[in-house]
Amino acid sequence: MGPAAAPDNRPMSLILYNTLTRAKEPFTPADPARVTMYVCGPTVYNYAHIGNARPAVVFDVLFRLLSARYPKVIYARNFTDVDDKINAAAKAQNVPIKTITDKFKAIYQADTGALGVMPPTLEPCATDHIPQMIAMIETLLKGGYAYEAESHVLFNVPSFPAYGRLSGRDRDDMIAGARVEVAPYKKDPADFVLWKPSTPDLPGWDSPWGRGRPGWHIECSAMIEAHLGATIDIHCGGHDLTFPHHENEIAQGTCAHGGATYARVWMHNGFLTMDKEKMSKSLGNLFTIHELLEKAPGEALRWAILSAHYRQPLEWSDETIAQAKTTLDRAYRALEQVADITAIPNVAPTAVIAALEDDLNTPKAMAEVAAIVKALNQATATADKARLKGQLVAAGNLLGVLQQQPAAWFGAAKDSSGVDAAEVERLIAARLAARKAKDFKEADRIRDMIAALGVTIEDRADGTKWRVTE
Ligand code: AMP
Ligand code: ZN
Repeated sequence: MGPAAAPDNRPMSLILYNTLTRAKEPFTPADPARVTMYVCGPTVYNYAHIGNARPAVVFDVLFRLLSARYPKVIYARNFTDVDDKINAAAKAQNVPIKTITDKFKAIYQADTGALGVMPPTLEPCATDHIPQMIAMIETLLKGGYAYEAESHVLFNVPSFPAYGRLSGRDRDDMIAGARVEVAPYKKDPADFVLWKPSTPDLPGWDSPWGRGRPGWHIECSAMIEAHLGATIDIHCGGHDLTFPHHENEIAQGTCAHGGATYARVWMHNGFLTMDKEKMSKSLGNLFTIHELLEKAPGEALRWAILSAHYRQPLEWSDETIAQAKTTLDRAYRALEQVADITAIPNVAPTAVIAALEDDLNTPKAMAEVAAIVKALNQATATADKARLKGQLVAAGNLLGVLQQQPAAWFGAAKDSSGVDAAEVERLIAARLAARKAKDFKEADRIRDMIAALGVTIEDRADGTKWRVTE
């Protein structure tokens, strides 16, 4: 299901909190005919956890909202597919890095797909943009913003006086916070790496500075320049990326483009926590999306993620998931009751749109959805039921929920087959992602898993269809 159609011609009233100005501001794209957004995506070396899913889900709602408003939204979310952690995983398993990154790219796409995250317009990979990174580094060198030292190229932070504006950190904080390596070849302790040398056992690319590999920050700046342009409308990511990653992106992009604004609006999601601690790989307090999908439908996980405002912390627990599931059960039960009534195709109710337009206030929007469910349960006239059903499905579409048939949500085969429809849909999405990533072995493995559930699939022009095997 695509984004909701443009509801009407009301003037735009989208308000977004901009980390850069620390204020809620009315959002107006630079070019309403081509709205651009970028989200820093995952480093693909293992399973993403449910905290990593938060930016994917939250900014998917933003993508849906913008797509309902503007004719063309270009949304890029990258894959970081060259990184020390990837190198370490490849070394440990004695495989090329591409084996690791292809596998976890496909898993990330399948996992986020199961959470109802629409594929972004573009999913560029860092390793496909090495020439663009080299070109940008050369521009920075020519402009006097970067320098070469001992086969490294470094960005010289004092050359960009606005450095630190996004995160609001002072210089000492920044140097301490960045945990930047103190290296004798650095002109300034805050300088960061644009290019670094590779040893023969590490992945590397030829460059004017010898065989090497890019620093992390230049990846995003080069991919943004290549696909979206010098200035983008909205740049998003998790709160932890504000410094140093986004600060460094701004420095690179602005200096490479003669002072042009790099991103007009910056949005950062708060942390998903467990026992009030940020969920993270380093602390090990995590649930992967993959394992949670074994326990709960993706849609319930999505609802749970959206149950807190995106800038607030979100405390994760079994209770969070259980509550989300109960709420969705209620909504699907209401839809089930009106299964034989044709919905009046409707726009999402103004109250839902207004909540989302107020800096993505998803808890408020979900309360409005609950109010529609209540009204639908109380409605007696067919016309009211048809209208409310239409409103519920349209509101659900903006939030990325309530798009299944109620029977599918309730595990479909309340018929005697016992097939779990949600599971089948999840596996079909995973197989599609594997095929997209040209991992045909994995796609075949998933096909076998589907067959083992007693389900036959058929690939048709309008998608993969399934039925219980006779
Ligand atoms: P990483 O793979 O660690 O670079 O993270 C990918 C994305 O997930 C980044 O945008 C991070 O800011 C975000 N992220 C990581 N941990 C969390 C968390 N516990 N809660 C919310 N977002 C997170
Ligand atoms: Zn980035």
